[in-house]
Amino acid sequence: MTRVIAISSGKGGVGKTTVVSNLATSLAKMGHSVVAIDSNLTTSNLGLHLGIHLYPTTLHDVLEGKANLKDAIYLHNSGFRIIPADISLRKMKDVKSHEYMEIFDKLMSSSDFILVDCAAGLGKEAVTAIRAADEMIIVTNPELPAVTEALKLSFVANKNETRNLGIVINRVKNESHELPARYIEDMLNVPVLGKVPEDKEVRKSIAMKQPIVLYSPKSPAAQHLKSVAATITGEKYEPKVSVSYRLFSWLR
Ligand code: ADP
Ligand code: MG
Repeated sequence: MTRVIAISSGKGGVGKTTVVSNLATSLAKMGHSVVAIDSNLTTSNLGLHLGIHLYPTTLHDVLEGKANLKDAIYLHNSGFRIIPADISLRKMKDVKSHEYMEIFDKLMSSSDFILVDCAAGLGKEAVTAIRAADEMIIVTNPELPAVTEALKLSFVANKNETRNLGIVINRVKNESHELPARYIEDMLNVPVLGKVPEDKEVRKSIAMKQPIVLYSPKSPAAQHLKSVAATITGEKYEPKVSVSYRLFSWLR
């Protein structure tokens, strides 16, 4: 059965697109058939993270009825498919949840996972995609404002009968002022699927337009993102960072 998972966040800039591009790559490497959709129509950047942004046909064209879905599906070199959105400032009519559901339906027979990179927050653009999805993952930073917004998102998921799988805490620095994972888990009443450390390799990988699990697979962030992918599929992957990697990074 196809799993349609919305990747959402209360606050912007916390790492949703990073999580989507790396989950898509990791799940594809595990042998699953994956489609990543950029439903962040106003500030889309999934294509930018993946090194392809000049798509002739995008989700915008499909939603406006100007193109067929099959023409907006592109294959990433790591083996998953991407449906990008337009990166230009393009005014769109309000999209309805059933329009996304129709797109998901068309992809079901050929996909194990449909990952939806949502707009941040609780606005129409985000809620429409969350409502259309079956499951949701919330990405947050370990800070009170981000977690408070994440809590509101949790309520939105419940209201729309979208199953909240859990939280990915991104950019963890293990500083004393950060909210501990257990506190976040209690506050949102869902499990923490992974704690991804602050890692400068992530910024480098985005500059190189590659998911970090490909660009720097041994880095701490890549290891933890792989572990999130395993958790979603019910498998176990223990993140490991070798002594030689640590030593090499320290020398660098
Ligand atoms: P969102 O999609 O939620 O807006 P992005 O995935 O685009 O967020 O991430 C925003 C920025 O945060 C990235 O461009 C990158 O510079 C930085 N970033 C994300 N995750 C990490 C991380 N684990 N370590 C370091 N920087 C990160
Ligand atoms: Mg994004």
